[in-house]
Amino acid sequence: MMAIRSWKFRIYPTKEQEKELKHYFYECKNLWNFLLEHTKQYYEKTNKFPTRKQLYVITKKKTKLFSQVSQNVADKLVKSLKGMIATKKKGKKAGFPRFKPIERMKSFTYPQFGFKLNEQLSLSKIGEIQIKKHRELKGKIKTLTIKRMPSGKWFAIFTAELEVISKHNKGQKVGMDLGIEHFGHLSNDSIITNPRHLKKAENKLKQAQKLLSGKNKGSKNRKKAKLRVARAHEKVTNNRRDFLHKASRKLANSYSLIAMEDLNVNGLSKGFLAKHVLDCSWAEFRGMLHYKAEEAGSEVVFVDPAHTSQECSSCGLIRKKTLAERWHNCSCGTSMHRDLNAAKNILKKATGGHREARPFRPETPVESGPLPEKVSSADESGKSICEDRSPVL
Ligand SMILES: [Zn+2]
Repeated sequence: MMAIRSWKFRIYPTKEQEKELKHYFYECKNLWNFLLEHTKQYYEKTNKFPTRKQLYVITKKKTKLFSQVSQNVADKLVKSLKGMIATKKKGKKAGFPRFKPIERMKSFTYPQFGFKLNEQLSLSKIGEIQIKKHRELKGKIKTLTIKRMPSGKWFAIFTAELEVISKHNKGQKVGMDLGIEHFGHLSNDSIITNPRHLKKAENKLKQAQKLLSGKNKGSKNRKKAKLRVARAHEKVTNNRRDFLHKASRKLANSYSLIAMEDLNVNGLSKGFLAKHVLDCSWAEFRGMLHYKAEEAGSEVVFVDPAHTSQECSSCGLIRKKTLAERWHNCSCGTSMHRDLNAAKNILKKATGGHREARPFRPETPVESGPLPEKVSSADESGKSICEDRSPVL
């Protein structure tokens, strides 16, 4: 089976190269805005969208960027427009993509050519950039995205296509309840706890944010405080992702089937303060688990979350519980932790006679190693929910 995986390496451009890379952002931003304006006018006049080819022609005239990079800007616009049309077809409201200020331009992509990876990273029109390859890149390289983080660090993100050999996992089947108290509770009563170092990093982030809020706008100290927040935020993201990778790897290797709730249906974290952080972690976790399971020969199954915490896993009686009720007690004599009961129900739904399982719908490509970062062209269209947001913790 062929699969797309991605690798993220830190790069160290010189001052001169950094200037050049930033110039690319600037040019990409201008090109995006120009193409968008053109598209809008074209649509007003003809009630049609320009074709990709037409946009390429304008692109060629408009910019001196390496052609693959500038075409990728046009490709992204086409993708956004297609998304907009698809949403409209479903009867939902959707507006044009938005014009971009320079701050929103944080990456650019070589879709095929224009770069070479050896001891250094060689970029067409820019030169050789120092790169730290902490892992071996496997497969056939497809794309390269150059990205600058708010902390000022630069990264090269490669996607590559590689053959994945699936094994057959002979482990147990397990249900998993994702929660707030613990990250996950398994139907065999094992618990995946939220790591403590993550909490620490989050506290540091909170502190940094507090410091920032006290600084005057436009001041030098505010700039410094902002950078501190960005760094702390990156650390939290990295720590969290590292944890998610480890947890998903372990599950995929240990069990033949892992059942979880389909969170798209009702979102477990409803009403919680750090909702989107949890949502992001879970969405990301599902993606990671999915591809790791593929490689480990195990299956991930998503079930309808209806009644998983209300129903008794022994006798099937449904009794409403408030979120504060942490223990499941039933008139049949069953007594166990609420999340354990839910995990048992999730497993039942996934393996029971009337299987309500749904297939996995991948939302975003996920990286395959430790401390990675989501590769997305989506982060430029503003669609990605996890990236490039101001911290909320
Ligand atoms: Zn019962």
